[in-house]
Amino acid sequence: MLKKKFKNYNSKLREECGVFGISNFDDASALTALGLHALQHRGQEGCGIVSYDGNKYYSEKRHGLVGDNFNKEKVLKKLPGNFAIGHNRYSTTGGTTLRNIQPFFADTNAGGIGVAHNGNLTNALTIRKKLVEDGAIFYSTSDTEVIIQLIAKSKRLTTVEKITDAIFQIQGGYALVMLAQKKLIGVRDPLGIRPLVIGKKNKSYVLASETCALDIIGAKFLREVENGEIVIIENGQLRSIKPFPKKKSRPCVFEYIYFSRPDSILNGKTTYEFRKMFGEQLALEDDIKADLVVPVPDSGNAAAIGYSQKIKINFDLGLIRNHYVGRTFIEPAQKIRSLGVKLKLNANKSSIKDKKIILVDDSLVRGTTSHKIVSMLYDAGAKEIHVRIASPEIKYPDFYGVDMPTKSELLAANKSVNEICKYIGANSLKFLSIDGLYKAMGYEKRNNTYPQLTDHYFTGEYPIEIVDKLGEDKVAQLSLLSTGSNN
Ligand code: AMP
Repeated sequence: MLKKKFKNYNSKLREECGVFGISNFDDASALTALGLHALQHRGQEGCGIVSYDGNKYYSEKRHGLVGDNFNKEKVLKKLPGNFAIGHNRYSTTGGTTLRNIQPFFADTNAGGIGVAHNGNLTNALTIRKKLVEDGAIFYSTSDTEVIIQLIAKSKRLTTVEKITDAIFQIQGGYALVMLAQKKLIGVRDPLGIRPLVIGKKNKSYVLASETCALDIIGAKFLREVENGEIVIIENGQLRSIKPFPKKKSRPCVFEYIYFSRPDSILNGKTTYEFRKMFGEQLALEDDIKADLVVPVPDSGNAAAIGYSQKIKINFDLGLIRNHYVGRTFIEPAQKIRSLGVKLKLNANKSSIKDKKIILVDDSLVRGTTSHKIVSMLYDAGAKEIHVRIASPEIKYPDFYGVDMPTKSELLAANKSVNEICKYIGANSLKFLSIDGLYKAMGYEKRNNTYPQLTDHYFTGEYPIEIVDKLGEDKVAQLSLLSTGSNN
């Protein structure tokens, strides 16, 4: 296991995204638009679809939301064919250029290939530097383009062999959906850090980041793509190859805590069920007496329900959410983010006035949300506020595809629980214990030799080496980010 100092890591290239693909289905792009719409929570900065009609590829990419961009017949008409893949993009960069919006498409000597990628490669810049030294030209700053270049450069013969060759060279957390003519291909990283599921609609296979994207199109959930597995869907048949040495999976714990939609199924249960169990466990580890359990909507809803049911204290809505505002994190600047909390939530005075409140959220990162909400609830007349967080203290950043800031911005990396409590202005503060988290997920305890989950956020144990050291190794290709180019 690796414990490292990541002080210099530049957070600019990390992405959390949603991917979708369908083969052999009329109106494939319309179904892809629906699937992406269900996956909108995974990224709201840009979206794109690549389709294939048996002869030609088509591509449309847009800034903003799926519903605002792929809602019209005339756009979908530009994406004909029975094969399509799509992508929702989230990046932490201020300047999202159209060039970085996926899926990417390239012509290779094995034919055209479209690639949609969720995750983050930990050696992308190192590979990219070598490729640039060898004369490669990069169009975007995304690590996904590195994958395409490796596929294109591979000397192997078939597309699947080229893809296998490429993924042996990359490291990190990734889920890929690719379209190589009539082949729909899905790949999940060797530890299964990022999610990818297989569904079936009539006779057609579907690939998606989460099962909620299958539900929206009426597809049946078959199974998750396994860690290190490549699935190839062609002529209505699915075959699977597992080119990596066999390893146990280690999915990202944050998909369970926050990232996946509550109705999506991971590891046999909805994440709603998992989150409720985190709340129950949090209650078991607590002894506070209060009048009400109040969730931070919507991220804390499930945990707050679990907590209140376990401890038999009334659950009530102490905060009302404006649904026309995106996730707070979506504005990368700290100033705007703190404003975002106010835009999104307001205190429900009638239910909280003069009450002792247990305020439940799923996680605490920079503390912006809790800080604002606590003062909002006091201003609205709450008597006491006891903040309870349904995950352990986040002390370490992420490099595998979740937007988790640098160590200096992570509150728990720099302050004790008491200091955090003071900072957010609450009467008391408690986090779910790491053992409690594993217990709530049905494990007896955390297996310290080979942890069941990728949980570096709390433990600092990084299962995959972080090869790129951006601070020390500023690569010239990042110039694209600073040009302000918007095309
Ligand atoms: P903060 O306000 O910085 O403490 O962030 C905590 C809030 O952001 C919680 O309400 C979480 O639901 C949410 N959150 C946690 N992690 C993420 C993430 N990676 N991306 C977006 N939102 C997040």
